[in-house]
Amino acid sequence: MILENVISDARDPSAVRWDIELQDGHIQSISPSKASPDTPSQLLLPPLCHPHIHLDKAYILTCNNRSSPQHPDYSDLCPTSGSFNEALVNTSRAKERYTPEDLYLRGSQLLATSYTQGVTSMRAFVELDHVTGTLPLNVAIRLKRDFAHLLELQICAFAQDPIFSTAHGDANRAIIDHALAEFGKSIGALGTTPYVETSREGSLMNIKWAITKALAHNLHLDFHLDYTLEPPSSSPTQRPLTYSVVEFLKEHNWARIADSSKTIVLGHCTQLSMLGNAERKTLAEAIVASRLPIHFVGLPTSDIFMMGRPGPDSDLSHNRPRGTMHIPSMIEELGLSACIGVNNTGNAFTPFGTGDPLQLASWAIGIYQVGTVKNAELLYDCVSNRARRAIGLDEGEQYSQIRKGQKLRGMLLLRNQEVVELPGVLRKSTMAISSRQRLSLKDVIWDPPESSLRSIVR
Ligand SMILES: [Zn+2]
Repeated sequence: MILENVISDARDPSAVRWDIELQDGHIQSISPSKASPDTPSQLLLPPLCHPHIHLDKAYILTCNNRSSPQHPDYSDLCPTSGSFNEALVNTSRAKERYTPEDLYLRGSQLLATSYTQGVTSMRAFVELDHVTGTLPLNVAIRLKRDFAHLLELQICAFAQDPIFSTAHGDANRAIIDHALAEFGKSIGALGTTPYVETSREGSLMNIKWAITKALAHNLHLDFHLDYTLEPPSSSPTQRPLTYSVVEFLKEHNWARIADSSKTIVLGHCTQLSMLGNAERKTLAEAIVASRLPIHFVGLPTSDIFMMGRPGPDSDLSHNRPRGTMHIPSMIEELGLSACIGVNNTGNAFTPFGTGDPLQLASWAIGIYQVGTVKNAELLYDCVSNRARRAIGLDEGEQYSQIRKGQKLRGMLLLRNQEVVELPGVLRKSTMAISSRQRLSLKDVIWDPPESSLRSIVR
């Protein structure tokens, strides 16, 4: 296979174009391109990664199942208020209807869509509780096997519901324990949601339990954490749980006991955006000094949909603080490890969006108000290399210099079109408009190419 007119360093729009002959996914020969100046170039880029996406909940509201015993109808579960509580309640009702066929179809639709968008790795959350049992996990294990030639699916066994409070806490915890014992080899990460416990004490027990289990089963750890815009006051009950995670990881000797490849991911953490600059800096310094492999995953499209809702009696109902972690600043100013993820698509937690990481990175420019070329390059990193690092996958080569023998299989290739053809004035005639060319990461992030222009090098 020959790739013509390839730009391999998309940080430099004037970079040399190459003609590359590939054999078995590796560079057989490489030479400066002989293509004419009008030939559209192609960009070679690191593949995309979903560091945080929910597998079993994808497309509940957009699958449009025609009701059958295998494929349940969810159409009565569309949001009416769009509130977080409604999303929790309606998703619990949806989970009662899950079938293996339905989970497999929606899951494979998510994986297929992701692959065509340029995703080759992901952390997929599957819920385990007294309603679902281990069904979503069993289906995820089949999907992991059936898609293994296309992408790396890291399964996160996930407790969305309380495991230390409510009438079902003990049952929920027992199901996760059972899943870890029986299917541990197929599970890559353990995830919980400490903020859903009904007391502070329950949240702290949730965190300690998850750390102990992750260490015992040699898993990555992942918390949905501090999902509120309540300002942390001096009251210990409103202190962000991020502090407790760091303290408990130290108490449990994570750095000494855990396999060095295992990471800890903290998702959402919207409350950190409410800290004063000095306090956030102190927290960041404590995390950096701890040398713990903690990564933050910002979920901005989910967060701004759910956070900052006005109360029913609000006199300022149009004033909606769209709080989310400011990931670019956390990386560049605070020196933290961080990336961004889609979280949900087609369900009550995030009904909108195609799940495309490039579209997410593009929206992030507006959400974070970051408009420089360097910002665009960082945002590309946040949905590719940084996302892979967060979930403990190898960082991958940077590919700024390509050479003979190098493996290109698995890289993302973006094609440019020469022209767009439209119907002409006369029947059967056409108008051809020269296409704008995407030559750099900035072009890709500011104006993401449609999926049909993307492919993974095989
Ligand atoms: Zn999530």
